Amino acid sequence: MRTLLIAGNWKMNGSLALVDAFARAFASVKLPARVEVALMVPFPYLGVAAETFQETPLTVGAQTLSDRSSGAFTGEVSGAMLVDVGARLVLVGHSERRSLFGEDDAAVLARVQAALEHGLRPVLCLGETLEEREAGRTESVVIGQLAAVCDALDPAERARLVLAYEPVWAIGTGRTASPEQAQAVHSAIRGRLAAYSPALAEGMQILYGGSMKAANAGELLAQPDIDGGLVGGAALQVDDFLAICQSAG
Ligand code: PEP
Repeated sequence: MRTLLIAGNWKMNGSLALVDAFARAFASVKLPARVEVALMVPFPYLGVAAETFQETPLTVGAQTLSDRSSGAFTGEVSGAMLVDVGARLVLVGHSERRSLFGEDDAAVLARVQAALEHGLRPVLCLGETLEEREAGRTESVVIGQLAAVCDALDPAERARLVLAYEPVWAIGTGRTASPEQAQAVHSAIRGRLAAYSPALAEGMQILYGGSMKAANAGELLAQPDIDGGLVGGAALQVDDFLAICQSAG
């Protein structure tokens, strides 16, 4: 039975006060069995979040990392630095990184490899644009993004990934994929993973992301191939995020 992961992505939002509010709210919370919770916070808050969340079930993650280990790369942050300040997970290939910062499949692969090298769990984001969906290309786009990374990894490395299916048209738009639409893509992803190995397909956590909120989380998370959520906007309000975590039981 796969564990569910609810991961909040603060993007370029949040504050020390919000870190503190999450720490206080989650210190006394009883999460449903099989539910893990992570918060992907901006770089400056990682260290303090890792420390403040110690008495809570919250794990800390970053939102991106450099594909280099160290050196003269002004402004970059390496995987080793993320681990040093307590991050355990890192988002890679989020659609905002792909579309706004020009990260193509090769750049995404390099960051996944850097994360693995430093002992971080990469949360690899996959998803089609509205134009691609309307052209009937959803599966080929998503499976193409998956294969661009997985084909280059060895079996042990593939097994350390978490996947997040995030239709680009649903991110930050208030428009959520229906449970049936999401399940169909998750099932196609799992089918492709089975070509690498049935055990990989069976064990892989595949999260859904795209305007997930308390009102729709329950029915999305009830789908057989949806193993959690990647939550943007609703992860900025403690109560909303807690309600999503509770609905994952
Ligand atoms: C995201 O940023 O990954 C995301 C899913 O955002 P939102 O929940 O706001 O759509």
